[in-house]
Amino acid sequence: MCVFAPFGVTTLMDDVTALSVTHPTGQYDVLIGAGLLPQLRGLAEISGPIALITDSHVGPLHAEKCGEVDCLITIPAGEVNKTLATTNTIYSQLLAAGIDRGGTIVALGGGVVGDVAGFVAATYMRGLNFVQCPTSLLAMVDASVGGKTGVDLPEGKNLVGAFKQPTAVLADITTLQTLPPAEVAAGMAEVIKHGLIADPSLFQALEMGDWHLETISQSPNTSASDPWSPLSTSLQSLITQAIQVKRNVVQEDPFEHGRRATLNLGHTFGHALEQVSHYQISHGQGVAMGLVAAANLSARLGYCAPALQSRLENVLTHMQLPTRIPADLPSAVIYQMMFHDKKKVRNQLRFILLRDVGDVFIADGVSGEAVLGAITAVQMKG
Ligand code: NAD
Repeated sequence: MCVFAPFGVTTLMDDVTALSVTHPTGQYDVLIGAGLLPQLRGLAEISGPIALITDSHVGPLHAEKCGEVDCLITIPAGEVNKTLATTNTIYSQLLAAGIDRGGTIVALGGGVVGDVAGFVAATYMRGLNFVQCPTSLLAMVDASVGGKTGVDLPEGKNLVGAFKQPTAVLADITTLQTLPPAEVAAGMAEVIKHGLIADPSLFQALEMGDWHLETISQSPNTSASDPWSPLSTSLQSLITQAIQVKRNVVQEDPFEHGRRATLNLGHTFGHALEQVSHYQISHGQGVAMGLVAAANLSARLGYCAPALQSRLENVLTHMQLPTRIPADLPSAVIYQMMFHDKKKVRNQLRFILLRDVGDVFIADGVSGEAVLGAITAVQMKG
């Protein structure tokens, strides 16, 4: 049974939501629901060989659910492995397994696996079919949608990459039951960001909702037929709402010539924090602190009320996310690191600033003094 709802959202059967994403060369569906992985081949309409790429945390927990695959590649977990060295080992394993252009690369994991596997799918034999099975909240609401893939260089994050659209995204929410609470929180940082960018009702749902992160990561024994209702229902709609924001933005601006840059709200600060901390600060934590810094910078420059920063901090704290930059990271070093950001234009930093919840804009030419002021203001006092 297919029930059509507004805004391009379809409810398949009773419990699977499908969001259609169009891009310059086609369209794909993002399916959100419980127990999707065992139906991978059918739901993603894969006919040829499957090369499943996963990581050392996710593989042992979830790879078996995807059924038989022709090549299983497990990379070590973690951002430090989002490198060209990792892609080289994957290319060799694909060749050894005889995967050719008739094959499909399936990414099973968080954003790191999605970015690496997507880059491999874009480049191996000049490109082959690609399916995303995100297993972290962050990858579900953000990384798996929109076609950006890539790896880090020692000089900076995501400096080598390609646009590679998936042919399907399967967000099986039961995989979140094994996601550590800190990673659930990290994903919530991107959900909060999406609310801030374009969906005040999503932001309010986060402010008002009774979200218990530890309940989301539950016993891995909970079965797909009993997916921790009613939390799973509200989680599924929260994820759908957050993906809709990303979907709408990437559909409007697939190659980041304009509005797509707003998805980087908090990220110029956040990426620098990740790097300066040698990835001790995770992407989600970096985004959380970066959002606070962006709100502070916006207020400092007179674009929004200072109260917006407090409102944001309340939501982040409720989601167990950090709101203060550690005191041992020197503000000048963070600032210098920001110049490694791809988004800079003619060596000037580009920021996404806030006027209000749901009202953001791109700002060039922000003074270094204001940026340093914002970093210092949101830093823990040493
Ligand atoms: P991640 O992939 O490192 O996953 C976080 C941790 O959770 C890892 O240890 C992983 O092994 C583990 N994990 C994932 N799913 C699990 C599960 N179901 N059960 C148990 N453990 C699980 O990081 P992430 O937060 O998912 O993604 C961050 C990455 O995504 C960054 O590299 C960032 O640059 C990238 N990103 C890309 C885009 C894009 O548009 N391509 C957008 C946002 C972020």
